[in-house]
Amino acid sequence: MYYGFDVGGTKIEFGAFNDQLQRVATERVPTPTDDYQLLVDTIAGLVEKYDAELNCEGKIGLGLPGMEDADDGTVLTVNIPAAKGQPLRVDLQAKIGRAVKIENDANCFALSEAWDEELQDAPSVMGLILGTGFGGGLIYDGKVFSGRNNVAGEVGHMRLPIDAWFHLGDNAPLLGCGCGKKGCQDSYLSGRGFELIYAHYFGEEKKAIDIIKANEAGCEKAAEHVDRFMELLAICFANLFTANDPHVVALGGGLSNFELIYEEMPKRIPKYLLSVAKCPKIVKAKHGDSGGVRGAAFLNIK
Ligand SMILES: [Zn+2]
Repeated sequence: MYYGFDVGGTKIEFGAFNDQLQRVATERVPTPTDDYQLLVDTIAGLVEKYDAELNCEGKIGLGLPGMEDADDGTVLTVNIPAAKGQPLRVDLQAKIGRAVKIENDANCFALSEAWDEELQDAPSVMGLILGTGFGGGLIYDGKVFSGRNNVAGEVGHMRLPIDAWFHLGDNAPLLGCGCGKKGCQDSYLSGRGFELIYAHYFGEEKKAIDIIKANEAGCEKAAEHVDRFMELLAICFANLFTANDPHVVALGGGLSNFELIYEEMPKRIPKYLLSVAKCPKIVKAKHGDSGGVRGAAFLNIK
């Protein structure tokens, strides 16, 4: 049995999955926001409860918005104050008496998609989240690739490629990022970025969904914006694909529901790739909100 915990800023979602990767148990509890011991006890309590209920010793994986410091194992996160700077994995292992794996939630999202029935034969899967922010994860042979510092796949904090800068033109917006840098892809390719770019060129604040609807209704400004954004996305995606050459790319997050992306990317990306490279298959994520807990559980498949 595989146990997954999706630890978020407000709730912890637990899921138990059998050997066929089917979900057999679900529970959601509030995240203890500022009491570390309670956080450890809550997770350990759920393990104990479901071990008894399912008569097994589940393998444990945790996904969270952040990562472990690669050298001392403490948790780097802003969204879960209780876990910040704490050796969560070591403390959980001591409390529960078995191995615990911890991964970034974007990596868990990517792993969840990589183990989808239709994608699990792909040698590599890149998961990209076009949500509040822009992030991602790299899966090779069914396993997360975390890198030296657990930051592999943090594509949101790569700065815009030069082609993107030329594409945006003389009036290009230089947007700041939460990480302290300017020009991070996170500020441009996220749902928020989609709105910021519109506001920059047209001087009006509009919600992404309203811009998309206006585009469908034939609004010229919206059409100009969507064309600008699609090309920007194609340029940035092509840059990622040149470095990683994934077999399949799964898109998640709110903006991944914008169906035009799946029509436009295969047309726009090839001219930015090396001439020998083909655009990989780009699909919409299938597991949506349950991706975090699935991916956390699947950390222990391989
Ligand atoms: Zn950044």
